[in-house]
Amino acid sequence: MSDKILVSACLLGRPVRYNRSAKALAHPALERWQREGRIISICPELTAGFSVPRPPAEIAAGQSGEAVLSDGVRVIEATGADVTERYVAGARAALDLARQHGCQFALLIDGSPSCGSGFIYDGAFAGHRHVGAGVTAALLRQHEIEVFTETEIDALQIRLPQASGGLPAYPP
Ligand code: SF4
Repeated sequence: MSDKILVSACLLGRPVRYNRSAKALAHPALERWQREGRIISICPELTAGFSVPRPPAEIAAGQSGEAVLSDGVRVIEATGADVTERYVAGARAALDLARQHGCQFALLIDGSPSCGSGFIYDGAFAGHRHVGAGVTAALLRQHEIEVFTETEIDALQIRLPQASGGLPAYPP
């Protein structure tokens, strides 16, 4: 098992979100993993060819990433453009990168139609959240990669040594 962790680029301070912002996560565990060279950074949307800034997008009809991957549910920009294929391409690129580095865990920012894993928005562009995953998080989970949100980093910190069969090297 690799000790690398796939992490959303915007959590690492890269201003790659649709509105050109980042959501840098300041946490001692993340800083330590960076020093140890364990972080594999990915922005699925940029990898799929989107630019910064870009219109916001949501998964349509209150659905989730799993339905995009298997049931033909669409990802739609606020402009009305159908960007489903690029979201799926970004998810596949993230999975390929995770496999290339042997990542068993991912730390992805919540709420995104790509990276969200606890909640996403319902497709009405009205700020309505619902429980669900974005396309990338859903695809990673389908391939046995455990996905944690930024608010679950303490749980990830505990899970890592458990997964490798050792004891925690640091207190959570
Ligand atoms: Fe951040 Fe993921 Fe959105 Fe890229 S796709 S900006 S990494 S949340």
